[in-house]
Amino acid sequence: MAEIQLRNIGKRWGSFVGVKNFDLTIADREFLVLLGPSGCGKTTTMRMIAGLEDVTEGDILIDGKVVNDLEPKDRDVAMVFQSYALYPNLNVYENIRFPLKVRGVDPATHDEKVRRASAMVELDDFLHRKPAELSGGQRQRVALARAIVREPNVFLMDEPLSNLDAKLRVSTRAQIKNLSHELAVTTIYVTHDQIEAMTLADRVVVMKKGVVQQVGSPTEIYDHPANTFVASFIGSPAMNLMEGTVTGGTFRAKHVEIPGLDAKDGPLTLGFRAEDASLAPEGQGQITAPIYTLELLGDATMISVRVGGALVSVKADKTFRAEIGDPVSFSVPPAICHLFDAETGERA
Ligand code: ATP
Repeated sequence: MAEIQLRNIGKRWGSFVGVKNFDLTIADREFLVLLGPSGCGKTTTMRMIAGLEDVTEGDILIDGKVVNDLEPKDRDVAMVFQSYALYPNLNVYENIRFPLKVRGVDPATHDEKVRRASAMVELDDFLHRKPAELSGGQRQRVALARAIVREPNVFLMDEPLSNLDAKLRVSTRAQIKNLSHELAVTTIYVTHDQIEAMTLADRVVVMKKGVVQQVGSPTEIYDHPANTFVASFIGSPAMNLMEGTVTGGTFRAKHVEIPGLDAKDGPLTLGFRAEDASLAPEGQGQITAPIYTLELLGDATMISVRVGGALVSVKADKTFRAEIGDPVSFSVPPAICHLFDAETGERA
């Protein structure tokens, strides 16, 4: 069992606020991802949970016990960092065994534990190599095995894939997901990569400038972003956001007219996703404008136009062909639109 409660935790250095009022219960065996841009407080939150950083406000509880004053080694959490921090003079076997020695685990059990952990990350054939003789992905897996071997109740992972190339990231990502499930541990995972967040998480926490913006399943965050920040941070491409004005339920901006909205008169930020709109016969859609860019994606064509002070993209069939500057018309039904307060950016 490892339920983690963060009760209004915060971190201040002098007058600078790194993390503010973070309040969340992370369920036993949950895979929670902290997501946000550089400097938003993800690592600080994780370091507070690990005990590497004091909390300046609030309490952290692991399985109902306040751990604020417990040393990292007494918290039963294992961390994996983006820099693998392996011992260069020790081979893979010895690197993986290291935490068992430090913690005084019965030496008679070491061999079995090391072999089991290394098999889980498919390193059985590399046990005698030194870190310098391994690829980046293999080193990352040694770091993972070294966390696994401790059999902790909680895994804390800080951008563990950031040093890997694109292909290795995808395969190691799948391995991490699988391991977390197999080991039945509570996992907190930090990333600024929204695809990693969406694919790994049971729940995602989106942060901005030390403040939690939204907590939800990947689908909730994608389908019902709480504000324009979350809307523009999740999804590739990001949600289209346009500024305009509503009168009598019709949203208007240059080249745009979307009737049938349940919105009060006044300025509004309107959003929709590229895949939710579609091409319409010329002049018959809610957006009609000259094509600004065309991108062939292989399985689709991404068309973008400049309207409402923004670049708006719509995904079309892969067979779509036209020239830049040609007029194009998009069907944007009111039901697919997300409405945000023009001033605060909060979901209207
Ligand atoms: P990244 O993705 O770049 O790692 P992050 O979201 O993990 O970013 P944190 O490392 O948690 O961000 O930092 C949050 C904020 O706190 C940043 O503005 C950072 O400059 C600041 N900060 C971190 N450590 C300290 C410190 N020891 N003293 C003062 N400010 C700090």
